[in-house]
Amino acid sequence: MKKGTKQYSILKLKCPRCQIGNLFNNPGLFVYKDILEMPDKCPHCKQDFKIEPGFYSAALWISYPIVLATFIPLVILGFSLDSIHGFFKFIYPLLILFSFMLQIPLMRLARAILLNMTIDYTAKW
Ligand SMILES: [Zn+2]
Repeated sequence: MKKGTKQYSILKLKCPRCQIGNLFNNPGLFVYKDILEMPDKCPHCKQDFKIEPGFYSAALWISYPIVLATFIPLVILGFSLDSIHGFFKFIYPLLILFSFMLQIPLMRLARAILLNMTIDYTAKW
């Protein structure tokens, strides 16, 4: 993944401007504490992460279609469990559990996408 691209900043959860500082206090996609704790400013380039009050509520509109695209097929699969092969009946609860486990990385990625829609990469700030 090439530094300077939006994908780099989003998938590595790095500051969109310098792509060096971490977006979250507890870095990584699969974490189970301090899930949405972010520093007020980038620890490296001092880019403000608290752009305005309620800024990150817009991240809900990024994660919502992704959640729908994940859960609607699961619900349809759940209604057709009687007519499908027994293997899927065993796998189905695991799919539900796995999709709930994806909520934390999804919330973090939605915030990173929102920040990248607002702030562009700058090689020298
Ligand atoms: Zn930065």
